[in-house]
Amino acid sequence: MQRQEIEKMILDAEEALKGRFARVEETAYKNQRRVLDAFKRANVSARHFAQTTGYGYDDIGRDTLSDLFRELLGTESAIVRPQIASGTHALALCLLGVLRPGDTMISGAGKPYDTLEEIIGIEGSAPGSLKEYGVSYKQIELLEDGTLDIDGILGAMDKSVKLILLQRSRGYAWRPSLSLTDIESAASAIHAKDPNVCVMVDNCYGEFTDISEPGHAGADLMAGSLIKNAGGGIAPTGGYVAGRARFVEMAANRLTSPGIGAEVGSYEGGYRAFYQGLFLAPHTVSQALKGAILCAYVFEKLGFAVEPAHNDLRSDIIQAIRFDNEDKLIRFCQAIQANSPIDSVVVPEPYKMPGYQHPVIMAAGTFVFGASIELSADAPIIPPYIAYLQGALTYEHAKIALEGAIESVI
Ligand SMILES: *Cc1c(COP(=O)(O)O)cnc(C)c1O
Repeated sequence: MQRQEIEKMILDAEEALKGRFARVEETAYKNQRRVLDAFKRANVSARHFAQTTGYGYDDIGRDTLSDLFRELLGTESAIVRPQIASGTHALALCLLGVLRPGDTMISGAGKPYDTLEEIIGIEGSAPGSLKEYGVSYKQIELLEDGTLDIDGILGAMDKSVKLILLQRSRGYAWRPSLSLTDIESAASAIHAKDPNVCVMVDNCYGEFTDISEPGHAGADLMAGSLIKNAGGGIAPTGGYVAGRARFVEMAANRLTSPGIGAEVGSYEGGYRAFYQGLFLAPHTVSQALKGAILCAYVFEKLGFAVEPAHNDLRSDIIQAIRFDNEDKLIRFCQAIQANSPIDSVVVPEPYKMPGYQHPVIMAAGTFVFGASIELSADAPIIPPYIAYLQGALTYEHAKIALEGAIESVI
């Protein structure tokens, strides 16, 4: 396609999307107010940014940051740490922390995110998986329309079921994200049957896409990554676990050690970037959402199947585009990389990555290595050749990269 034609197409799209964008901005406004109120209540000041060393007893920067997350995620307790290496690590702390031999976990939203398969022991046999520890696993598929099969979940709940995992985001799957309302109805139905079951939400990519969070919707435990939404594009690493105090303590005992839990952990890098990232997160997420909506709209117009559609409700920042063609898929990802601020000359190729079952191509020309709150695209190389686009520090960057991608693919 010609450059001018593409620019015209994008301008028309922006005109058509005004109402959608206004709703995204309204959500960002409400979340910015929630974040600001939390900072004010916690009386955040420069002393909270201080570097700490050694055990980190009484590390006020670490503890206050955790307290902000606790409030914003609607939970009793939270731990936020640079030492949580990734979203997968945060989720593993929850699963390995809460479940005991003889227990059963249910994945209530179908197949969980790829990297969880080895933690659970569904695929592969990584030493230390839940399976090796004698924890059983059941999976309840989503219904035809992509919603939760609540009757199926309730039917699978026997006495051994101690944890039910709900993945909010679509991850690498062609399905809708779970809304807060979906999570709320599932949590209340599950708790009506057994109030002691831990309803756990994989909250990766979900934070600040809505005006409330899984804790407000009755979830007992959740986890996420700081190089996705909640780090605002500024946090250099890290993850969080939040939920009911007793479950968060179990995860904290896995992070450090039983009896020590969340009491230790220092960070000589200091915490300023985590606070600043959290403060920026509502806006950064809105930029990513607007980029995703624009992408959905133009690729729909170009005749591709997309999920979600431009006018669907969104509970995550991921945009899936189905190419039905390996070459187009690879060219799309390569164009995203070529239009990145960092490593624009690198040409990504499909590669077997740890934790993933198929070769994956990943475009991530990011300031924070692998950060997917920054504009990035991933795709497992299997039919029907779906690319998952996410992130953007600025909407303008998403728009420029999209122009480049259309030029390359069409
Ligand atoms: C990204 C992601 C994970 C894993 O997070 P990493 O930080 O990549 O380890 C888990 N679940 C979902 C839904 C994700 O999007």
